[in-house]
Amino acid sequence: MSDIAQRLQEIRDRVAAAARRSGRAPEEVALVAVSKTFPPELIREAAQAGQRLFGESRVQECLEKIPALSPQLRWHFIGHLQSNKVRKVLPLCEAFHSVDSASLAQDMDRIAGEEGCRPQIYLQVNVAEEARKFGFAEEALRRAIGPLLELPRVEVVGLMTIPPLAADPEASRRHFAALRELRDRLEAETGVPLPGLSMGMSGDFEVAIEEGATVVRVGSVLFGGR
Ligand SMILES: *Cc1c(COP(=O)(O)O)cnc(C)c1O
Repeated sequence: MSDIAQRLQEIRDRVAAAARRSGRAPEEVALVAVSKTFPPELIREAAQAGQRLFGESRVQECLEKIPALSPQLRWHFIGHLQSNKVRKVLPLCEAFHSVDSASLAQDMDRIAGEEGCRPQIYLQVNVAEEARKFGFAEEALRRAIGPLLELPRVEVVGLMTIPPLAADPEASRRHFAALRELRDRLEAETGVPLPGLSMGMSGDFEVAIEEGATVVRVGSVLFGGR
């Protein structure tokens, strides 16, 4: 078995164990293999080991890598996206995890109409309200979300967050719980289901799953340090 195949198996086992601890089936948690900065050879190795879902965070890297790899692979865009780059990347990725403003969601909706795409989006929340971080503040999202749920082309599937950097994964727990609680509140207020919770990275994905993550974004523990 290749190193990547072995690490992938270990990560899958850890995902499954954390899902069971939270009373869910392992299949209820999707693993996005974050391949940003890593070359196509390593992506192919992960694909050979059965991984289909990959995440990239830069538009230029998407344009270079995605068309050169197997069409069987599925791609999620996980980085900050500027409106002027939406048209390039929209046809390449099925979901966008970091939609951090109403105007970006509206631009994506319009361009998705023109390009004939139906992207899934996660609204990024700055749960800890850190000064230099992208994402909606909670109250701002409560005010903004209504019209976003009515956009015809983009499907708002849930929320995403990146908690403050911390050495101890337990430090992320309250932020993940806050995202879940906000989701529950938005569902109650809008009557629209928001099943997706994109939270958890290499250092804290198990805690995120215990707090309800439906999709974890894992890079370095699979592909190595960047
Ligand atoms: C890079 C990145 C990840 C993966 O981070 P690792 O710590 O390498 O697992 C997850 N989410 C986002 C938004 C990222 O930019």
